[in-house]
Amino acid sequence: MTTISNIDFHCHTNASDGAFSPEQVVQRAFARGLNYLAISDHDLTAGIALAQQEAQRLNTLLLNNDPNAPQETYIKPGSQVIKVDNGTLERSNEQRLLTIIPAAEFSTTWKDEQIHVVALCLDPQHELIKELEADRKVKRKERAIEISKKLELLGFESPYERCCAKAAPGATITRGNYARLIFEDGKANSVDEAFNQYLKRGQKAYVKTQWDSLEHTVESIVKSNAIAILAHPRRYKISNGRLRKLVMAFKDCGGVALEVSSSQQKEDDRNYLTQLCQEYDLMASLGSDFHNEGIYRDLGQNLDLPSVLKPVWHHERARAFNLGPEIAQRVVHITYKGNPAVESA
Ligand code: AMP
Ligand code: MN
Ligand code: MN
Ligand code: MN
Repeated sequence: MTTISNIDFHCHTNASDGAFSPEQVVQRAFARGLNYLAISDHDLTAGIALAQQEAQRLNTLLLNNDPNAPQETYIKPGSQVIKVDNGTLERSNEQRLLTIIPAAEFSTTWKDEQIHVVALCLDPQHELIKELEADRKVKRKERAIEISKKLELLGFESPYERCCAKAAPGATITRGNYARLIFEDGKANSVDEAFNQYLKRGQKAYVKTQWDSLEHTVESIVKSNAIAILAHPRRYKISNGRLRKLVMAFKDCGGVALEVSSSQQKEDDRNYLTQLCQEYDLMASLGSDFHNEGIYRDLGQNLDLPSVLKPVWHHERARAFNLGPEIAQRVVHITYKGNPAVESA
């Protein structure tokens, strides 16, 4: 069984390490029945405007009942819809409109750990957001070139140049871009393996980076009037005690929400994050962290927000995007019968 949510506050395009252009991500969001999608590329807001333009174009087609209006395709032959929370399976074109929420996932350092913070409902023109981007742009490029040099010593040809050529002009090049390149060069059996064998801490092409501090980043996000969300808190390789310290530090400098639900997440992890949200009085966000075609992480997939928590779209800043406490998450529960790979997702 899998679920598809109409709200997803974390994904990537080829403005960073996603495989698809902002337009393609938006088309996929319509095909999967989303109503609210945050584009949250690493350290860059350049993909947002393109996504918003594409959403506007497709919303107009829907409103005009145009034959080229987007179709929903997530119900495959043999799949079965079990139930739909807060809505119906069939929707009018008006009920299928998509709002793109501007966001970015900023890289930060906290006590020697690389921690990601999603700035949701941001203003890309705000000076403080521009400053955060400008700082990362310099560091990212230096680091990407250093990683590239190490990969060259290991026999790869022009890794930096090839990653840049595959991504959008000016894109943030992350270890995710390199992991895909290594896999596509046939030097690893999967992207995950490429990451683990070459790029993670301790491996040959690893480059240590000191990002801007968590505290400064969160303060800037909040001052710019955006919402600061601690991204995928269970994915950091830290103890529970250290995670609590991180959550406290995050809250102390103005952090608003934890990303409680993500695709490919164990129930225990979601339960633990639910507990932390309650203990530290934080709101709850949800995001697939979609990067590319794959079974286990996709737009809206398996984003189940516990009903005891306050969803982050209740935050007053979300009003600017027609969100608020009156909006309930629509969740389609579905089984992909006859497709066991998808079934186990
Ligand atoms: P960076 O921000 O440059 O350190 O790269 C982090 C990015 O690498 C993440 O956003 C993911 O896209 C990707 N990544 C992290 N862990 C893995 C993994 N185990 N396998 C493949 N890609 C990963
Ligand atoms: Mn990434
Ligand atoms: Mn991340
Ligand atoms: Mn991400």
